[in-house]
Amino acid sequence: MYKEDCIFCKIAQGQIPSTKVFENDEILAFRDINPKAPTHILIIPKAHYETLSDVDNETLLGKLLQAVQQITKGLEIEHYRTVINNGSGAGQEVFHMHLHILAGRKLDWPPG
Ligand code: 5GP
Ligand code: ZN
Repeated sequence: MYKEDCIFCKIAQGQIPSTKVFENDEILAFRDINPKAPTHILIIPKAHYETLSDVDNETLLGKLLQAVQQITKGLEIEHYRTVINNGSGAGQEVFHMHLHILAGRKLDWPPG
């Protein structure tokens, strides 16, 4: 549930500060410290799962996508991309599962 050396567990616990944009019992969303787009938000389950592949709670998976809807609606963001990097080969650097919301600029497709 909580991993001692995990930076996102520390953010979820409030031990490391973050700019929060959404929070409930199970989920936290905050601004990315090194944004790759004018709007770059990270959504995490408060419980520690290393990767998307490790999330065995289907209700939570649905809630994470509902959080994307709520956050983008609340911020009136119509055009956005949601990304989940699963594993280092896919660009994952922080091994606490998270979704990215990217918006505010033209996003290339296909991605690099
Ligand atoms: P990944 O590459 O694992 O999919 O994405 C990790 C993201 O976390 C990166 O975009 C990086 O900028 C962000 N990040 C890493 N450390 C911190 C931090 O301490 N605070 C915040 N707000 N974002 C972080
Ligand atoms: Zn963690």
